[in-house]
Amino acid sequence: MFNYPDIDPELLKEAQQIEESLNETFRRIDDISEANQYKVLNAFRKNRISEAHLGMSTGYGYNDAGRDDLEKVYADIFHTEDALVRPQITCGTHAIYLALSANLLPGDELIYITGKPYDSLEMAIGIVDSPLSLKEIGVSYKHVEMIDEAEFDYKAIEEAISDKTRIIAIQRSKGYKDRASLSPEHIGEAVKFVKNINSNIIVFVDNCYGEFVYPDEPTDYGVDLCVGSLIKNPGGGLAPIGGYIVGRADLIERCAYKLTSPGLGKEVGATLGVLRSFYQGLSLAPAVTANALKNAHLAAALFEKHGFRAVPASDEQHACIVQAIDFEEPEKLKKFCKAIQAASYIDSFVKPEDSDMPGYADTVIMACGSFVSGSSIELSADGPMRPPYTAYFQGGITYEQGKYALLCALQDIEF
Ligand SMILES: *Cc1c(COP(=O)(O)O)cnc(C)c1O
Repeated sequence: MFNYPDIDPELLKEAQQIEESLNETFRRIDDISEANQYKVLNAFRKNRISEAHLGMSTGYGYNDAGRDDLEKVYADIFHTEDALVRPQITCGTHAIYLALSANLLPGDELIYITGKPYDSLEMAIGIVDSPLSLKEIGVSYKHVEMIDEAEFDYKAIEEAISDKTRIIAIQRSKGYKDRASLSPEHIGEAVKFVKNINSNIIVFVDNCYGEFVYPDEPTDYGVDLCVGSLIKNPGGGLAPIGGYIVGRADLIERCAYKLTSPGLGKEVGATLGVLRSFYQGLSLAPAVTANALKNAHLAAALFEKHGFRAVPASDEQHACIVQAIDFEEPEKLKKFCKAIQAASYIDSFVKPEDSDMPGYADTVIMACGSFVSGSSIELSADGPMRPPYTAYFQGGITYEQGKYALLCALQDIEF
């Protein structure tokens, strides 16, 4: 192992042993990456992606073949009828709100069956009152908690479903919660259960942080609508903005009408030069996701060894790239985030402090020294300042940078 001059030799020795113990895990991650790389490459080949696709459109963006064929590539990767992949979808929250609001009408009901969703959705749904929340447009909402934060509560789901229920929503990643993230197959069980009760109910998945973590995706198990952010896994670290929605063609068309206008739909939306990064980022996404996953396992193993609780544990198969570590003390969480920031390419000299964030209830501390602002497929960590002072660590375009950052953090906290 390279002898970092600024890392304690004892810690380096410990890290080497831990890496060896992760050998089998890393092999499995490489196998999945290989399968996903093949799937992505084949989608490019099938759609005959050429140099001309990497160009740009302006103005209305009519007949932008690069944009339209990228959507075919996404639909092929996710095995769906259609896709909407646009720079005009500004972030993950926007993709989720777009997909939900386009497919819910006054009187309809939305039920999340993975507990309360990601903090930034509270206003979008209307859990916290807001203009243009789903609640304001007449959509009722409830959620069903998971059993032991790990299993779907099928009895409670059956009781919750009524004639009004239009969308059942599933958040794949734990977000800022202490629960398990979900594999596509596990999500598939819930799809089957819901469709058995009423096959007209739309099953929606927030797939943020989950893309390319398994060889399959939630849409391989009958999910109708599935969304994510391009400044997470599928952008491969290169996409500077954007979101995707994949799924049934009729539902995607409604999303396009909502994003632009009825009648215009997918026909408009200039790409302004981002397509090269969308395509190239997608080509790298399986490998980049694999590196992020290896960093997550390494983080769990290193900090577990020093008595911290890691979720998921280092020896569990991860279902998304987010690694939670409970620091129990606010100072340790801050030290962790400061070390991650200091090991970043951009803004390494900045000292993160916790502060208010739009859409979040508690103050949040964030480390993100990224090329793309706020990108969390790049090395990043954040944590709401509330017990048990959990750091949510994710990303690392390269395994090496993540490893070095984790060594620095553990050294600052424990050595
Ligand atoms: C990141 C994330 C979101 C929101 O995405 P933004 O791009 O931050 O708006 C929603 N759900 C989950 C599970 C996420 O990880």
